Amino acid sequence: MAGTMQKITILGATGSIGVSTLDVLSRHPERYSVFALTANTQWQKLAQQCRQFNPRYAVLVDEQAAELLRADLGSGLNECDTQVLAGVDALEQVAADEAVDTVMAAIVGAAGLLPTLAAVKTGKRVLLANKEALVMAGGLFMQAVRDSGATLLPIDSEHNAIFQCMPSGYSANTAGLVQSGIRKILLTASGGPFRTLSPADLLNVTPAQACAHPNWSMGRKISVDSASLMNKGLELIEACWLFDAQSSQIEVVVHPQSIIHSMVEYVDGSVLAQLGNPDMRTPIAHALAWPARIDSGVSSLDFIAAARFDFEQPDLARFPCLRLAQEVAACGGTAAAVLNAANEIAVEAFLHGRIAFVDIARVVETVLTQQVSIEPSVLIDVQAADSEARVRAKRYIQTFN
Ligand code: NDP
Ligand code: MG
Repeated sequence: MAGTMQKITILGATGSIGVSTLDVLSRHPERYSVFALTANTQWQKLAQQCRQFNPRYAVLVDEQAAELLRADLGSGLNECDTQVLAGVDALEQVAADEAVDTVMAAIVGAAGLLPTLAAVKTGKRVLLANKEALVMAGGLFMQAVRDSGATLLPIDSEHNAIFQCMPSGYSANTAGLVQSGIRKILLTASGGPFRTLSPADLLNVTPAQACAHPNWSMGRKISVDSASLMNKGLELIEACWLFDAQSSQIEVVVHPQSIIHSMVEYVDGSVLAQLGNPDMRTPIAHALAWPARIDSGVSSLDFIAAARFDFEQPDLARFPCLRLAQEVAACGGTAAAVLNAANEIAVEAFLHGRIAFVDIARVVETVLTQQVSIEPSVLIDVQAADSEARVRAKRYIQTFN
């Protein structure tokens, strides 16, 4: 595609990944133009982005917010000709529009599943940040990628690193790990802000502490997931689908500096790693331009300042969410959608002060044991498991006081 202008839709433009994506795009106006930007409710931020990037469409899921955006963009100074759409269906519309080449899937949580799938089904280049979509519906999602011939590129820094360390052109659809001479994947984890806290101290941590990640600046949901290591658990499941791996072929290694973003070990003993400053603009620029390389705005890695790299084993006793995800990764089925849905409800309850941090794992484990896992054959199976898990999680949380 080099030399031609790429039209991009950003699902979740007002979020942390969305903003980083627009930053990278703004450095390459000759390569990329913005087709559509979407958000849930944050119309003022979206208005600003529309004025800067002048997309053909802006979508707000919230109808009232869409009204406000429409009025704002049409009023007085700084008019822009962006058409404002409202509602969830419009997300799928701008993801699937035939004018679009590339879709950045950066909505948080299960809400991203349908619009991301819409992009996949129309055979686009799909940059996947929304890991929850793949965790929920992995088998059906990857089948849709195969059927449509979409190009799926990982944005999650670890998966982007693994992709870069894989043999050229490796994908879940070509060869397996073993046939490619790969012994294992080393998925690195920062350990999050509570890595060194005692079990007693973990009882009292606050949402603000959970959202203060030592190395990465991210949205609130993924920040809490990083603190509980559920994020690493979701990433384990994500890696199994992306790279056609068994969970037993993936080892989680805690690396507190977050400079090595993940590694691949080959049968000859070689270990390839991808390194860089912890800044999401690197994987975003990589996936946007792949197989070419473009400037991302990220500064050079200073090895002398970094000085040392440490590694340790994750502590599954203090961080049971990772253990739960490992169990789900080994079994498969709708349990992954259940894990994800229960976690979304529990994280929201924690962020609103309704449950303690350590209760997140209790909610997820309880719902997982209550709900039977089946092999989903159609999307409705996944959606039913997701809805049921949300009801169970909410009901269980109501028993807390
Ligand atoms: P943010 O919370 O910062 O942004 C989420 C975006 O999704 C916002 O644009 C938000 O709109 C929109 N959104 C939220 N809920 C809905 C909904 N129900 N329907 C439609 N749109 C919605 O999240 P992040 O950018 O941090 O993360 C996005 C995804 O990327 C997540 O899946 C996360 O796991 C993944 N990821 C993020 C990384 C990071 O560094 N941030 C790293 C690796 C992966 P509004 O602003 O209006 O609420
Ligand atoms: Mg990650």
